[in-house]
Amino acid sequence: KRKFDIKEVRSDFPILNEKVHNQSLIYLDNGATSQKPQTVIDAIDNYYQHFNSNVHRGAHALSDKATELFENARVKVQNFIRANSREEIIWTRGTTESINLVAQTWGRENIGAGDEIIVTTLEHHSNIVPWQILCESVGARLLPVNIKTNGELDYEHFTQLLSAKTKLVAVGHISNALGVINPVEDMIKAAHQVGAKVLIDGAQAAPHLVIDVQQLDCDFYAFSGHKMFAPTGIGVLYGKRDLLDAMPPWHGGGEMIEKVSFSGTTFNKLPYKFEAGTPNIEGSIAMAAAIDYLEQFDRDGMTEYEMDLINYATEKAQSIPEMKIIGSDCNKTSVLSFIIEGCHSQDVGMILDQQGIAVRTGHHCAMPLMDALDLKGTIRASFSFYNTKQEVDKLFEALEKAKQFLM
Ligand code: PMP
Repeated sequence: KRKFDIKEVRSDFPILNEKVHNQSLIYLDNGATSQKPQTVIDAIDNYYQHFNSNVHRGAHALSDKATELFENARVKVQNFIRANSREEIIWTRGTTESINLVAQTWGRENIGAGDEIIVTTLEHHSNIVPWQILCESVGARLLPVNIKTNGELDYEHFTQLLSAKTKLVAVGHISNALGVINPVEDMIKAAHQVGAKVLIDGAQAAPHLVIDVQQLDCDFYAFSGHKMFAPTGIGVLYGKRDLLDAMPPWHGGGEMIEKVSFSGTTFNKLPYKFEAGTPNIEGSIAMAAAIDYLEQFDRDGMTEYEMDLINYATEKAQSIPEMKIIGSDCNKTSVLSFIIEGCHSQDVGMILDQQGIAVRTGHHCAMPLMDALDLKGTIRASFSFYNTKQEVDKLFEALEKAKQFLM
């Protein structure tokens, strides 16, 4: 394994040398999207310089090479999340598309009038709205699990909601707004006991945790490339093979068929049944490069480094009386979501931006969560392994300035 040397690691990410408003960029918006190492950028470049061709056509050498790289990337993802077979890895545009795919295929086949889907108050809109659309059209009910005042999921409420009517539990592995890690292992076991299936929204987990879908025993797992150091426009849906096999296709078109005639069409086998049209070939190949990048290090060591950063930031925050951290005493990842009493989050974000510091402010696509916390929004600094304690110090210097200016 490569030694984790922060100086070297930072030099792998060219964007970290950028200036913003004439200041060195301090990128603390990793929850929204991650930056890309040079190896990922090179993988895209290399593909277009040497291998660009359509896949699965078997027509010529270049196409064969592109197909090989594309399919090797699928196996790389399979191993990355410890899936049982490559057929269980469906390429999508991202988490959002993965969840919609399940809602519109498995959902329409398996959820009917009077059935119930459980989500949590912590969900990103993309793990709420597809289920609302489904429920509306089939007459099912969407039930949200409450949270406690500290931002943690109310597990007891979850067990109370579970019943024979529950057909699906759709839950985020890690909350994007607060960084809180949900007890998904227990939730999956409990859901299976009542015969429900479980979809995990892993958008925020893929960059931080080692994922093992077989150990989790989840039925579906969705994540996006761009949050785990790969490009935008590529993502993954994992599903257990028997479920995927039984599901009808979603998008119709090329690649997803075996035979087409006007008297009827037969669909391709897994995983192609769910991959209509020309896929994001360079995205898949660059995703494999991102996985290679991550896996050259000891991932537990990286998590430790990130936790060290968040603990350092949390301690600093706790010494500021006006600063209120949401979810600080929960099991969580490297996210500091907070408000400064007396200041609008947006105004703070603007002042930070002027000092070269990128954070996200607002509802973080989790409006029901903000409602439950009785907040309009928070300021979210989300750290990655390429951030440093010096950057945390600069964040707090900038927050001090913001406070002086706004209060
Ligand atoms: N779920 C969570 C928890 C997220 O953080 C995000 C992205 N912010 C999504 C889903 C949606 O991901 P994407 O926009 O890449 O489809």
